[in-house]
Amino acid sequence: LEELFPLLTQACLAPNVLGGPEKHALPAGKVGGLAGSDKLELKDIFFAVKTTRKYHKSRLELLIQTWVSQAKEQTYIFTDGEDKELQMRTGTNIINTNCSAAHTRQALCCKMSVEYDKFIESQKKWFCHVDDDNYVVLASMVRLLSSYHHSQDVYLGRPSLDHPIEAAERVKSDGSVSVKFWFATGGAGFCISRGLALKMSPWASLGNFISTAEKIRLPDDCTVGYIIEALLEVTLTHTHLFHSHLENLQKLPTDTLLEQVTLSYGGFENRRNVVNIVGGFSLAEDPTRFKTLHCLLYPDTKWCPKLKPHKN
Ligand code: UDP
Ligand code: MN
Repeated sequence: LEELFPLLTQACLAPNVLGGPEKHALPAGKVGGLAGSDKLELKDIFFAVKTTRKYHKSRLELLIQTWVSQAKEQTYIFTDGEDKELQMRTGTNIINTNCSAAHTRQALCCKMSVEYDKFIESQKKWFCHVDDDNYVVLASMVRLLSSYHHSQDVYLGRPSLDHPIEAAERVKSDGSVSVKFWFATGGAGFCISRGLALKMSPWASLGNFISTAEKIRLPDDCTVGYIIEALLEVTLTHTHLFHSHLENLQKLPTDTLLEQVTLSYGGFENRRNVVNIVGGFSLAEDPTRFKTLHCLLYPDTKWCPKLKPHKN
């Protein structure tokens, strides 16, 4: 493995990072005599991936090939156009929200509203939203969420600003008042406990999310922050383990990549803004580095480069 990924340090490949002797296996339930306990498992997490029809080939396929393939049952892809072929071929849960395919506040809030309703219906313990340019390190996500309880009020993510946002909240027919609150940037992904999600219902369920967003005229991720921080008075737990391409991803130390919870890559604005992993696939074959990362986490994957046999 070191031959394929020369710059990775031992720390990065240490068994604790990969989840113990079973390598990439995630907590399988009755481990270590904890039978019947409420130890968090991957299946307790609902992953919502936001995408749009034009990114099915260029972005979504890569996720389905990589991390989504390890969490198929609990990952739901929220899009705006039919793609029966993709659904049939990959066996993923693709939900056509019938929301508009425009990159407008209304269209994005429409998708978030459907994500919320599907999560509530799912009975899962955690709602985690990500964009279609995010890689989720599943073992890290399970480990992070394990330190909280789903019945508590938990809102976890990375703010994109270093200060709370200030919005004008429309009141009654005229006037507006100023509100300040933190929000987790959607481009790095965020998670909400079921306990908190249930409390959001009056402002988030069954289309209410769209009218709430209209009150502050801000995007979907800001609206989530508004409901949680401003209306419910629950504070965002800031985490540095979630990453969007607003950051310089090249600066993330290579030996900590597998401990991060979400990663991303630069889009049209900066194709070179990718995580720094040398080895595995070439930059040409794997410009986002997601495939190389995936092969470190799941080396037995059939399309991953095989270890060269040792010559004695
Ligand atoms: N997106 C969408 N509809 C659109 C354009 C984008 O739902 O018309 C989604 C896209 O699939 C991604 C998210 O919105 O999950 C953010 O898009 P992008 O990464 O292109 O923009 P940025 O991260 O710069 O905001
Ligand atoms: Mn993005």
